[in-house]
Amino acid sequence: MTETRLRFPPSPTGYLHIGGARTALYNWLYAKKTGGKLILRIEDTDADRSTEESIQGIINGLKWLGIDWDEGPYFQTDFDADHVAAAKKLLETGKAYKCFCTKEELEAKRETAQANKTAYGYDGTCRDLTKEDIADKEAAGLPFMVRFKVPEKDGILSYEDKVLGTIKSHYSEIEDFVIVRSTGKPLYLLCNVVDDIRDRISHIIRGQDHMTNTLRQVLLYEALEAPIPVFAHMPLTLDIKKAKISKRSHGEIVAVQFYEKHGFIPWALSNFLVLLGWSSGDDQEIFSKEEMIEAFSLDRINKSNSIFNYQKGNARFFTDPKAIAMNQHYLRTMPIEEIAIMVKPFLEKEGLWDTAYEGDKKEWFETTLDLIRDRFRVLTDFADLGRAYFSDEFPVEAKPLKKNVLKHEGLKEWLPMLAERYEALSEFNLETSEQTARDLATELDIKPGIIMNGMRTVVTGQLAGASMFDILVAIGRERVVRRLRNVGKLYEV
Ligand code: GLU
Repeated sequence: MTETRLRFPPSPTGYLHIGGARTALYNWLYAKKTGGKLILRIEDTDADRSTEESIQGIINGLKWLGIDWDEGPYFQTDFDADHVAAAKKLLETGKAYKCFCTKEELEAKRETAQANKTAYGYDGTCRDLTKEDIADKEAAGLPFMVRFKVPEKDGILSYEDKVLGTIKSHYSEIEDFVIVRSTGKPLYLLCNVVDDIRDRISHIIRGQDHMTNTLRQVLLYEALEAPIPVFAHMPLTLDIKKAKISKRSHGEIVAVQFYEKHGFIPWALSNFLVLLGWSSGDDQEIFSKEEMIEAFSLDRINKSNSIFNYQKGNARFFTDPKAIAMNQHYLRTMPIEEIAIMVKPFLEKEGLWDTAYEGDKKEWFETTLDLIRDRFRVLTDFADLGRAYFSDEFPVEAKPLKKNVLKHEGLKEWLPMLAERYEALSEFNLETSEQTARDLATELDIKPGIIMNGMRTVVTGQLAGASMFDILVAIGRERVVRRLRNVGKLYEV
């Protein structure tokens, strides 16, 4: 069997869209599954809209997701000569022709068709010009476009789509389409095919939004005498109102970068994206990379559009709740050493990083992450909700402040008393810290909950979390004592 060769050919006109990332993933998975190759090709022919920043953004996004490629990045503009040569070849073999119709003439015909309520398609005015006609027009310096000459076959043009089945059209429904502009610049439709032929692409997995091109591209493959690749058109990703998801209407959440910035785990996002438009056929939703490669197949790509359930909620940021749930799953279950590596940049960014977390305090660091991760959803939570574990400067939530501290004036005295006793303990551990707190409550004849809840708020700034004494031990005696002693400050505001 010949090698499978896939490609991801983004146009660098913006950020890496999650829909684009999904396309890249499907191609990557299929390349891996079949032992083939993935080629990254930057389709930068639209000079006005392509930017260096976008190229970097796309490359960084793919790298962050862990999508690697075997060849490239190639740049479409480096192959201008190939595109021109292909057009020339089509002209020379009579499979394309020069069209001297002017913009105005074509516009007038379109308007007439519109007025008559008939479908407009190029009428073939220049299709059968004689050699002499052409020579005369060229001698007169008239500009021309190059049009593809759709074969005059009576019949049906078709290809087998791996997702959608047979896609067909009557030849007569396809107009002689332009492949080179009057400026001499080949059109994207042609460039894309020429590049795929040169890169020996065997499978094209792309969004259904490209289907308008595919039949015409099949004609180009035939005319250029190249094998037609396998096509698999993926469903689009829409929002719950069935609108395309775009930055304009949905904001940053459509960009892969957003997820990186907000502390998503790359594979968790990939796992979520793969399921937007593909299913394994059973209930399995969580896949390791290896399992996903093994399970992935083109014929299980959905035909109908996928819904990106973008929701505004009480989350600190908005995205599909399934994406968050997926991330939470990985955050809770991945080996803690891996989580530790991923958390580092977020702590660094907030000035909470201590190099000892990779040295002497490594064990403490990992145990602490493990203790707090259960309630977290994204990696930024460690630096944000988990701040009290890494710094004495942390915010105190309004609700527990009111309910668990301000309501009990007595805590102003009781917590410093507790601090005193903690300091005096010969050993500060789960048992001793709990017993000391309970004994104090008994002596003072108050409910232990008052001490415990007050202590939690003072020590962590939060209403809920892991078991209180686990927290105390993780934060450490010295810090706990300091925070308990400083309880008075909370009453000052
Ligand atoms: N450059 C096109 C895009 O970014 C991809 C076209 C294709 O996959 O054939 O949408």
